[in-house]
Amino acid sequence: MRMKSLGRSGLKVSVVGLGCNNFGMRIDQAATDLVVAKALDQGITLFDTADAYGNKGGSETMLGKALGARRKDIVLATKFGLPMGEGDLMKGASRRYIMNAVEASLKRLGTDYIDLYQVHFPDPETPIDETLSALDALVTQGKVRYIGSSNFAGWQIAESWYIARELGTSKFVSAQNHYNLLDRKIEQEVVPAAKAYGASILPYFPLASGMLTGKYRRGADLPNDGRLTVWGERGKQMLSDANFDLVEKLTAFAEARGHSMLDLAFGWLASQPHVASVIAGATKPEQVEMNVAAGAWELNAEELAEVGKISFRW
Ligand code: NAP
Repeated sequence: MRMKSLGRSGLKVSVVGLGCNNFGMRIDQAATDLVVAKALDQGITLFDTADAYGNKGGSETMLGKALGARRKDIVLATKFGLPMGEGDLMKGASRRYIMNAVEASLKRLGTDYIDLYQVHFPDPETPIDETLSALDALVTQGKVRYIGSSNFAGWQIAESWYIARELGTSKFVSAQNHYNLLDRKIEQEVVPAAKAYGASILPYFPLASGMLTGKYRRGADLPNDGRLTVWGERGKQMLSDANFDLVEKLTAFAEARGHSMLDLAFGWLASQPHVASVIAGATKPEQVEMNVAAGAWELNAEELAEVGKISFRW
């Protein structure tokens, strides 16, 4: 397994990570145990969850149980900020909320530290200096090792860096945003900002929820238990003709070089210097195995340029 540095930090993460939002939502504890065991076995070290995943807490609880004593061997990333209950005091990025949220996450995860604690969404009602100083206090206390942003715009990444410098607090080392071969919008503002301010991109929805795995084919029956099948209307939007047009071109590119669409979805992201780890979700251990193998394809400059042209559609 290839390792990369996470932003401007000394932390190394596996280039293929595991997204854990299926735990407690699509799959139960027994299936989670199998997925996590396979990920550990395959050398995955970055596990990404959030307090809200799995119906408010289920994913963290299941991940903590599945890891057990292996928790010390991995980089555990979680997030806070989405509503965890009713009312204004149960969400956001205020000092009050963060101090409560971190304790709840630590308890559910069954650990006394979080390696990467991420702001799930920008909180327009809390000054970013309050959020940064609260997170810095957690770093000082040893409850959190590194901090990251998620769903921040480019200007918010830049603003956070300057305010952290002014306050002398920890800086965000990662930016988790929607990024895959069907959706490259973050290359306009977020990627340049993350590069300039020392944050790695952690792309979410790297497989476009399965559209980039090769298991959905135009005109063919949908797989029974695929996410885009069970999502109904939302899934249909992803399975559009425009997306199939692009997936078919990308598949032809990959197959001409002896690879699959899945290899290209991982390999293209993993080959970008600004991407530290491809945190794809999985519902079965076989998927984890395929995903780790796919992440091994390192595209050369010519291949990256060609794929860049094929998938460009801003
Ligand atoms: P994704 O990685 O694009 O898609 C994952 C899904 O694709 C799996 O659940 C599985 O679904 C299918 N799949 C995976 N590997 C496969 C394979 N080898 N063959 C066939 N199908 C395969 O989307 P995601 O899991 O939602 O996103 C990744 C992670 O990003 C999440 O787990 C979460 O940690 C994070 N995330 C963050 C945010 C944010 O706002 N920060 C938002 C969304 C996600 P089925 O088996 O069900 O078809």
